[in-house]
Amino acid sequence: MAETKRDYYEVLGVGRDADDNALKKAYRALAKKYHPDINPDDKEAEAKFKEASEAYAVLSDPEKRRQYDQFGHAAFENGGAGAAGGWDFTGGDMGDIFGDIFGDLFGGFGGRTRTRRSNAPMKGANLRTSVRITFEEAIFGTEKELEMNLKDECTHCHGTGAKEGTTPQTCPKCSGTGQVVYTQQSMFGMVRNVQTCPDCGGKGTIIKDKCPHCYGTGFIQNRKKIQVSIPAGIDSGQSVRIRGKGEPGVNGGERGDLLVEVVVSQHPTFKRQDTNIFSTVPVSFAQAALGDTLRIKTVDGEVEYQVKPGTQTDTRIRLKGKGVPYLRNKNMRGDHYVTLVVEVPEHLNEEQKEALRAFDDAMKGKPHEKKKKGLFK
Ligand SMILES: [Zn+2]
Ligand SMILES: [Zn+2]
Repeated sequence: MAETKRDYYEVLGVGRDADDNALKKAYRALAKKYHPDINPDDKEAEAKFKEASEAYAVLSDPEKRRQYDQFGHAAFENGGAGAAGGWDFTGGDMGDIFGDIFGDLFGGFGGRTRTRRSNAPMKGANLRTSVRITFEEAIFGTEKELEMNLKDECTHCHGTGAKEGTTPQTCPKCSGTGQVVYTQQSMFGMVRNVQTCPDCGGKGTIIKDKCPHCYGTGFIQNRKKIQVSIPAGIDSGQSVRIRGKGEPGVNGGERGDLLVEVVVSQHPTFKRQDTNIFSTVPVSFAQAALGDTLRIKTVDGEVEYQVKPGTQTDTRIRLKGKGVPYLRNKNMRGDHYVTLVVEVPEHLNEEQKEALRAFDDAMKGKPHEKKKKGLFK
């Protein structure tokens, strides 16, 4: 067996004088590439991972490294000079002297907890999607129908992932617990460590013949129609939770939820801020000066508003209760604020100009002098 094993330094791709940092760096790179969590069901990657782990376990331990340098692989075979340690590399029970390495390595890989009981019932993951609605739909609420792919338990294997007529076998390595316990000699004595079973990935079972319908995943994608009740008062960026429409649970756990994020389209006239609505309404100079009855558009339709004589431009009026319903209590509503903008006419005909001049003169208390017509005064 010693003959078939690659040299540990060669495995890690480092020189014989490599220091701890160089070893760690080399092993990290290999572990990142070949770890079973990243390469599920890849036997070759798994073998490479074990080989690198074994090399690192030996070379990172000064005592074992010394023995290896002296005796080669023979140092760790039964009867070899270093066999007293009783390390079983062939079984792949690699230890968490790698803990610090894997700790930061897997922080970024979905946060798999290495100590969880993976065969316990687990709720399925939540799914996210989004739906676009109109400004009015957000105010008054609406019903929407979504179509999306949802995973369901495979009816052929009933979620086991094993071919019909076969069942998943209890994982021999961990006896179905999903964890491997190993002891390890450290400078503090024997240390007991628990790790997710590398053979079954923590499931506790191993599938020999995969179900051809779901490719061993235990799930099938189905196109589903989902009704979404969007409550009155919802705002852009808020989500509606639909229980039980996420990913299926694992080991009999309940399904995750579907979170539907609402995207509200802009309105040509209305702007919204929380529960208030804002708009701008033009009024003529005469309306503002003399007062008038305006018809103002709100989300409830047009309302009449009495403009007071002498209203200034940018006067803000409040239409109480014409805003957005409160999400928690739709009987309560915000307000609609309208800014009245007095418009200055841009294009006037001669008759209108005359009227304005007469008005201007009247304001100055002097009679209006009719100006001479023509290009030249
Ligand atoms: Zn199946
Ligand atoms: Zn196992």
